[in-house]
Parts: sequence; C-alpha cells; structure tokens
Amino acid sequence: MLGWRTMPGLGSIIGQERAVEILRAAVASQKVHHGYLFDGPAGVGKAACARALAMALNCEARDPLGCGACEPCRKIEAGHHPDVIAFDMTPKGLTERVRELQALCGFRPHEGRARVVIFDPAGDLAGPQERAEPANVLLKTLEEPPEGTYFLLVTAEAKRLPVTVRSRCQRLRFAPLGDQALEQLRACSDDGDDQAVSESRGALVETMVTAARKGDGRAIFAAASEAGGDRAEAEGACALLAVLLRDALLVRESLHRGRVPAERADRAAQLLGDRTPGQLLAALAAAREASLALRGNVAPSLALERLMLRLAPRAPSRNA
Ligand SMILES: [Zn+2]
Repeated sequence: MLGWRTMPGLGSIIGQERAVEILRAAVASQKVHHGYLFDGPAGVGKAACARALAMALNCEARDPLGCGACEPCRKIEAGHHPDVIAFDMTPKGLTERVRELQALCGFRPHEGRARVVIFDPAGDLAGPQERAEPANVLLKTLEEPPEGTYFLLVTAEAKRLPVTVRSRCQRLRFAPLGDQALEQLRACSDDGDDQAVSESRGALVETMVTAARKGDGRAIFAAASEAGGDRAEAEGACALLAVLLRDALLVRESLHRGRVPAERADRAAQLLGDRTPGQLLAALAAAREASLALRGNVAPSLALERLMLRLAPRAPSRNA
C-alpha cells in the first residue's frame, strides 16, 4: 500500500513537506497563527492544505495532522462543518460580506474549537479596480484577531493584496510540484507491488480510465454506477487507480525501471502515456480525495463519478 494514500488531513498533502511540517508543529504546540497566506502556483495543494489545517484545528482526536476519522474531520472533508467557512468570493457584494464576517467573528464558533475562514482566491480581496476595499475591511479583523478564529488566505497572486494585509499574515510558500513530489513517490515506489489485484477490478479501472480519457459522459456515468455498486469495491478501484497513476508518472519520468514490473509499466504507458506529469499528479490528488470521501458517507458511485470527471479532459455532458 502507498503510505500517503491511507493518511488523511495534513498527512495527505503531496510535495509540500515544508509547509505541512510548519503547520503540524504549530498545531501540536498550540501556536497556530491567526492568519496565513498560502502563496504559490495553482494546483499544488494550497486549498487541500487549508482544509487539512481546519481538520487539524478541530480534530476531536487532537491529531496535529487531523485524524480524518472523527466527526469534525469527516464533516470538514465533506464540506459540511458549520465553523469552516469557504468564503464566498463572488465580486458583487464582497466588501459587504467581509463586514458581515467581522460581525460573526464576535461570536464563538458553533460547534468546533476553531472557526476557520478560507479565502480562495484571496487575491480577489483586491476588489474592483484593485482599490482593496474588501481587503481593508478584513484588515481590521486581522489587526484584532478574534479568539479561536483563523483566516487562511489562499492565493497565486499575493501581490494583489495590500502590504498591510500581507504583513498581518504568516506567509507559507507552496513549492511547484515536481522534483519534491517525485521524490516522495520514489520513496514509496517499492510498496505498490503488495496490491492484490483482482482481474475484474483491473478491467473495471481500465474502463473508468478509458471513459474519463475520452470525456465520454455516458460512459463515465455507466462506469461509476458499475464500480460504485459496492463501497469496498469502489475503494479498491480507487486504490488501484492510484497505483496505475503512480506507475504512469514513474514511466513518464523514466524512473520505472526496477520499480514497476514491465507488464504494469506497459499498461500504464498505454492508458495514460499521453498525460503530463502535472496532470498525473492532479489525478493522483483527485484519487486520494475520492478515497477519503469513500470512507465517509458519500455514495460510492458519486465519489467515482466526481473523480472521473476530474480526470476528463473537459466537462462532459450526459448526452456525449
Ligand atoms: Zn479528527
């Protein structure tokens, strides 16, 4: 089994060891800053990390990485925790909503230990004509941080935010995925062979990948309902898909020799050889999220559907 695949929360973030370690240590020592700027290129795990930090802060098991299994962790994973707010960044009325947030922050969190407000993309706090109105309203709250509330500003364009706002946050830089993430994959690359692979499950995963590759909506929904008939089967399919994606990534980077059996390398090249390392890493992250979702209450077919839609080259339609 791949080590990272079974880890929830902060432990599940690939390729951002430094940021994860800083956050884990802060949670463990109860010295979490009230404002963070998660700064880095798109698609490297900033948003997943923000949610994972919210888990760590609210985890009933007090796991500094977030256990992923307790009720608050599961609610946060599913996006249903009342104290973890994915702030609505729609430009219209944004300043007004930041004011309302300020009022809300005068109250204790509803049910969690911590209220976590995630601004993503935070650069949009620059507001119309970059006059920084929403950012300046937020600044007042950042200057007098309410007890138990944490602000996570997630952005690929930190420069759009006023210096005053940036300076009130602890900046965490997220590295572009690449060598670092590959290093981690290399480290666990000998473990994939333990996977007991049933032939039917292998065929099912190939059907899923083929449907997603083609962006064939009808085939995607059919494959999802077939594979999602049983939760354990769906979890197995997700795990197997993760192995296939990892194989493809190792092949793509010419790192597969001695790590991936020839037959598996051929199959990965055949199914996913045209994908870039970035696409494969994004798909791996999607597979990991689906695995976590399957451990919660989500319908297995729905989790698989979502995963395949994320693997699809474009949004397919049911009539495709
Ligand atoms: Zn937990």
